[in-house]
Amino acid sequence: MRYAEHVSELVGGTPLVRLQSVTQGLSATILAKVEYLNPGGSVKDRIALAMIEAAEESGELRPGGTIVEPTSGNTGVGIALVAQRKGYRCVFVCPDKVSQDKRDVLRAYGAEVVVTPTAVPPDHPDSYYSVSDRLVREIEGAWKPNQYANAHGPASHYASTGPEIWADTEGRLTHLVAGVGTGGTITGTGRDLHDVSEGRVVVVGADPLGSVYSGGDGRPYLVEGVGEDFWPSAYDPAVPDRIVAVSDADSFAMTRRLAREEALLVGGSCGMAVEAALRVARELEDADPAAAAQAVIVVILPDGGRGYLSKIFNDSWMRSYGFLAADEGATVADIVR
Ligand code: PMP
Repeated sequence: MRYAEHVSELVGGTPLVRLQSVTQGLSATILAKVEYLNPGGSVKDRIALAMIEAAEESGELRPGGTIVEPTSGNTGVGIALVAQRKGYRCVFVCPDKVSQDKRDVLRAYGAEVVVTPTAVPPDHPDSYYSVSDRLVREIEGAWKPNQYANAHGPASHYASTGPEIWADTEGRLTHLVAGVGTGGTITGTGRDLHDVSEGRVVVVGADPLGSVYSGGDGRPYLVEGVGEDFWPSAYDPAVPDRIVAVSDADSFAMTRRLAREEALLVGGSCGMAVEAALRVARELEDADPAAAAQAVIVVILPDGGRGYLSKIFNDSWMRSYGFLAADEGATVADIVR
């Protein structure tokens, strides 16, 4: 019989799937690495496992300990599922702008969720940062993974995501494209692929327009999980060979196409990364069609689309931001009315 003892053993080993429809007119092979097939539904399961195991080894996290992390999304789910297996208590701190659905997901895994007001400055005692720091100080045996500064995040991608891509492409990939949030994915995966290919693989970061990685000032954007208004230490800016900035409108349009045309129901940062990958493929095509036909571009899709049904996949939400023209998204309901 072939089975795992626990879902946390199923982290990683995600497949590549070739994009068939959104790539029309391009001769490069574009392969998507489908990270929503991790047990917690995102790429963040990888770092959760690695950060927790490293903290156990170093003694920062001891049996019966409590994990405290300011996170509202994918990292929380990854931490919660690993913590459950290992018997740790989890406390997540979320600003009140985080949707009830997201808090409910964390609670469903047995985590405690502390909600803090969004409308206070970072140094206010009730802020997201102050509350998580206070919890770490006051709960005995508390440990904070701090995904933005924890070197085991990028190290987990160096050890797993990069080697998986190299093995599955039999070393034939020419480009890696990944969105940049904490920077852990691109730093670890890109570093491994640079090392193993002796610098041949081109590493491309995808970033929301307005974020610091692509030269912005942190101006707000709506795509979630990527872009920053500061430089986290999990990110090594020396790894990407270039950064491509993508607007919310283009990210969301591509996210919807991935669901409709490729049956990949994924999050907005996936649409952003695929849009960047297609731009790279288009440039190759324009520069040298024969070389473009040999290109193998791997793009990482960090999470699934179910968490975005009321936003990216909701026509009224999209129209309210001007991402969808008034006459787009017509359905049979418009005909039978
Ligand atoms: N997309 C989504 C949806 C994410 O949650 C994250 C993690 N913040 C990323 C992309 C970017 O990954 P990383 O933090 O490793 O740069």
